Amino acid sequence: MKLTELLNSGRASLSFEVFPPKREAAFAEVEGAVREIARLRPAFMSVTYGAGGGTSRYTLDIAQEIERDWQVPTLAHLTCVSSTRQTVREQIVRLREAGIGNVMALRGDVPADRMGEDRAGWSYRHAVDLIRELKESGADFCIGGACYPEIHPESADQKEDLRFLKEKVDAGCDFLTTQMFFDNHLLYNFLYKLREAGVTVPVVAGIMPITNAAQVERAIKLSGAMVPQRFRALVDRFGRDPAAMKQAGIAYATDQIIDLIANGVTNIHVYSMNKPDVAATIQSNLSAILGR
Ligand code: FAD
Repeated sequence: MKLTELLNSGRASLSFEVFPPKREAAFAEVEGAVREIARLRPAFMSVTYGAGGGTSRYTLDIAQEIERDWQVPTLAHLTCVSSTRQTVREQIVRLREAGIGNVMALRGDVPADRMGEDRAGWSYRHAVDLIRELKESGADFCIGGACYPEIHPESADQKEDLRFLKEKVDAGCDFLTTQMFFDNHLLYNFLYKLREAGVTVPVVAGIMPITNAAQVERAIKLSGAMVPQRFRALVDRFGRDPAAMKQAGIAYATDQIIDLIANGVTNIHVYSMNKPDVAATIQSNLSAILGR
């Protein structure tokens, strides 16, 4: 199933993200978590590619298993910046052979030791190069791309960021998923500017439930997201009590999602970080809103 069918339906959708294991020894554990999340029958599940140390070679195995065993549509991520053209092309063939129809086309983070390099000779410099490669493969992929309500950390300003985002969409990106954000107003402002720039594809709002205090600093470092005072107060008050912090973090994420849906942002993707209990609680908190 092409995700655009779902994302354009106008119905509220809740989806979850999982990431592959870092080591083979952890595969069974991750597989167990993935199975529990799939059992919730979300609208779709995304499987990251090499993010946060996860091993890229398992992305396809996990995505295939979700579709085959649980009939839950999947979105397989693929990055390009650290890969050769041959590796990317081989992965595209594998995706095609595995019957994966939805691909999240990403640049990936540039490794710290390659930041200063002259990029003219690189096979892939930006996600748009991967989108073009996917299109040229001849396969009829439904292609997703990343977007940043608070601009990408490497961008000079939002205008530049939006210009390159439009280039990705013009090259064939069918929908966008946002980086995490903790203040919905940032998303509403971003969506306004995006539509004004002529980008009309569906935008899926990425929500990260912060369930422990250590995660806050990690999340900010990774995403550059602004943390509102309302959220800081919650971490200050409950950060040292794991159970209370988890409850408060899930409530905050739920509250963000309800506000988004109430304001017409109907497609929500939860960065569930291989935590089935967090995914299940958020889904149950929204049961009537999602009509399940
Ligand atoms: P791009 O779209 O290429 O943008 C990167 C920067 O380059 C931006 O500043 C942009 O404005 C600029 N730019 C874009 N095009 C051009 C151009 N033509 N000329 C000049 N500048 C340009 N990482 C992983 O490793 N694995 C994952 O599975 C993963 N999943 C993600 C999912 C989501 C929803 C998000 C938001 C991020 C994810 N990431 C993942 C992180 C992502 O790889 C990084 O944020 C990366 O730094 C940028 O990737 P991108 O695809 O947005 O890049």
